[in-house]
This record gives sequence, C-alpha cells and structure tokens, in this order.
Amino acid sequence: GSVFASLVQAPEDPILGVTVAYNKDPSPNKLNLGVGAYRTEEGKPLVLDVVRRAEQLLVNDQSRVKEYLPIVGLADFNKLSAKLIFGADSPAIQANRVATVQGLSGTGSLRVGAEFLARHYHQLTIYIPQPTWGNHPKVFTLAGLSVKTYRYYDPATRGLNFQGLLEDLGAAPSGAIVLLHACAHNPTGVDPTLEQWEQIRQLMRSKGLLPFFDSAYQGFASGSLDADAQPVRMFVADGGECLAAQSYAKNMGLYGERVGALSISDAGITASKEVIINIAGSSKEVDDFVCKTADVASKVESQLKLVIRPMYSNPPIHGASIVATILKDSKMYDEWTVELKAMADRIISMRKQLFDALSARGTPGDWSHIIKQIGMFTFTGLNGEQVAFMTKEYHIYMTSDGRISMAGLSSKTVPHLADAIHAAVT
Ligand code: PLP
Repeated sequence: GSVFASLVQAPEDPILGVTVAYNKDPSPNKLNLGVGAYRTEEGKPLVLDVVRRAEQLLVNDQSRVKEYLPIVGLADFNKLSAKLIFGADSPAIQANRVATVQGLSGTGSLRVGAEFLARHYHQLTIYIPQPTWGNHPKVFTLAGLSVKTYRYYDPATRGLNFQGLLEDLGAAPSGAIVLLHACAHNPTGVDPTLEQWEQIRQLMRSKGLLPFFDSAYQGFASGSLDADAQPVRMFVADGGECLAAQSYAKNMGLYGERVGALSISDAGITASKEVIINIAGSSKEVDDFVCKTADVASKVESQLKLVIRPMYSNPPIHGASIVATILKDSKMYDEWTVELKAMADRIISMRKQLFDALSARGTPGDWSHIIKQIGMFTFTGLNGEQVAFMTKEYHIYMTSDGRISMAGLSSKTVPHLADAIHAAVT
C-alpha cells in the first residue's frame, strides 16, 4: 500500500472551501458571496484598464528579460510601495529608516515579517483582533509566534468594542506585537475612527507595543489611497517602529500575481535637526544618529534576506513590474486611483441597495450596520444555522460566520439575497 495511505483527509479551508461548495451546486440562481475578490455588476472578475496597459508596455519592451530578481525583489517596486503606504513625504523614508522587501502578496509578506520577528524580536507574543481573517492565527503560529487575541467586535452593536480593545491592549505585556488591520477590517467591516486610532497609538507607544499593520485593502475602503493609509501614517509619523504588510491583490486586482511588500520602519527622531542640535550640542552627533538608524534598516534588510532565501529564493517578476510601471508614471497612477474609486463606490452602492431592499421587505431587526461597515465585507450577524438555511434554500454561499462579500453582489442579485435574509430571520 501507499506510504501515505494512513493520512486523514484534511478539511477544506473555511474561506476557499465556500467556492468549492459553490462550484458543485448546479442551481442557475446560485450566488457566491464567499470569495474576497471584486466582481463587476455583471458578476465577472475585473482586470483594470491601467493594468492591461502596463502589461502591454511590458510585453512591448524588448529589453526586458526573465532573469531572477534579487532576493528582496524589484528595487523600484519596493521604494514605491513604501511610499504608497507610509506617504511620499514620510520622514522615515527620507531618513532611510525603512527596509522594504517584495513579498508573495499580503500573506507572504505577513509570513516573512512574522518569521523575522520570531528570530530577532524579544517578545514572541502577537495579539490579533477577535475576530480576524482566518489565516492570521495559522500564519503567525507556524512562523513561531505565540498568538493571543484582543477584543475588537461587539456583536450587540455590530460595531467596535473600543473599551474591550483598550483594556486588552492595556493588559498586554510590554513589547508585545499587535496585529492591526490598516483599514476595512476583515471580516467585520468595522474600523476605529481616527480619534480612536490616536488613542490606540498613544496606548501602544506608552507600553512599547509593536504595531504590525496588515494592509490588504488600501483604497478599497474609502476609495482614497491616502485616507485609507492614515492609521499607518500616524504610527510612522511618531518616529516609533512599525511593520506593514501590503497586498496589491484587491486594490490593483492582481490576486493571482501574488504581489505585495513588507516594510519595517525603524525608530528614529521626529524633531527637526535644529531642535536636536540644541539638545545634542553639535550637528555631527545628529548626522551620526541619522547614519546609525539607516544602518539599522540595512541590517534588518540583510536578515530579511536570510528569511526569504531558503523559503522561496526570490519573488516573481511580472506582478511587481506591473505595479512599478503604474506607480512610477503619474498619469497611470491617476488612472489607477479613478478605477480603484469606481470599485470602492460600487461596493458602497451595493450596501445601500441591500439595506434598502431589507427595509422595503420590512425584515425584522436593525440592518444599519450594512451601510455603516466599510470595505469588501459585511458582517451580517446571521448565525451558522441561518447561513446554512440560505445556502440550502437559496443557493447563496458565504462563510459560516455570516460574512458576505459585497463585491460579489450586483443590482440584479440584491433582491435574491434580501429575500433569503428575510426568510432566514423570520
Ligand atoms: N489580510 C487580510 C485581512 C485579508 O483579507 C487578505 C485576503 O483576503 C490578506 C491579508 C491576504 O491576501 P493576499 O495574500 O491574497 O494578498
């Protein structure tokens, strides 16, 4: 017999398994609201026009070859990605305090960051929100970190449990790592306000907690790349350490290209050179300090290379070249922001339409969270039993926690979903 005959069948991934079940359903009315991928009003996957154009430019450029990228990836891509998340005028970038490596989309970037921390950081506990993206605990545990949770979502208000969050982070051991969703929290669609972010920042800095941002939806929440990066930029602006894992899966529609980045910003000085000279007494000391911090970034990068090389050697070239082409060219960048905003706006309009459809049906309960929540997902509050009912009777597929992808909805399918929700709760 086979040496593997005694293996047990592993369960499907709870998120990707939804699509497996959907594909098996022969019903013509079936609806997949499980996948975290954008769909057009016609229910089709979307390749952005600006991405098509960038690819055309790349194909036509005869000088391009298929050589390996460096271990850290495409240099232009890394620089531009750090600017995109930290801000073009970020003092951390200007002082060379940021080490950036290209990663295998968001997941791979999180994993490399986690492996780096497991090897080189003194506190191996990472706090993740409750609930969070289902892959987070697995990625961090397998990287060698010890995972704990902090309160995040309040089922009663279907909003943020801010008090619980502050209490749990306040009780975390000094130096602990904290995973923060930069915007459009998955699966809840609930984000802190900027005032709440400021309180979180102050608490974390006062306790020396290390922020690790997961930025999988920059631009997808509000439609603005800058607005969605605000929480990250608040943490970078205070001069403290900060990690950020970026994904271009959603905001550039590059899902299968697996393109993302990990940036690690080292601590630095926030005061102006003049102020520091007053304190330090000489400009040479300041220059020494700036030089020393740049030196840290170079050490960080050197250690990231040791994480990456035995894992996948170096990252793929195509997706990163598309992103770099677009970010480098101000006209293409502007085109991207327009197409990105159109995707975000369509999702916001789906929220409104679903809310209106439930109001029109007189569906019992308060459904205002559908329009209050932000980003790709709505955390409906439907329980596992209700979800199973909707799948069985209405052929609607979603994760069992009641999360639906608003990007998978269209004006045509909203009534079907509203009928199903109405039937499930009455
Ligand atoms: N982080 C969050 C919160 C996500 O929702 C996702 C995708 O669903 C990811 C990270 C990683 O996605 P990818 O590896 O496709 O970039």
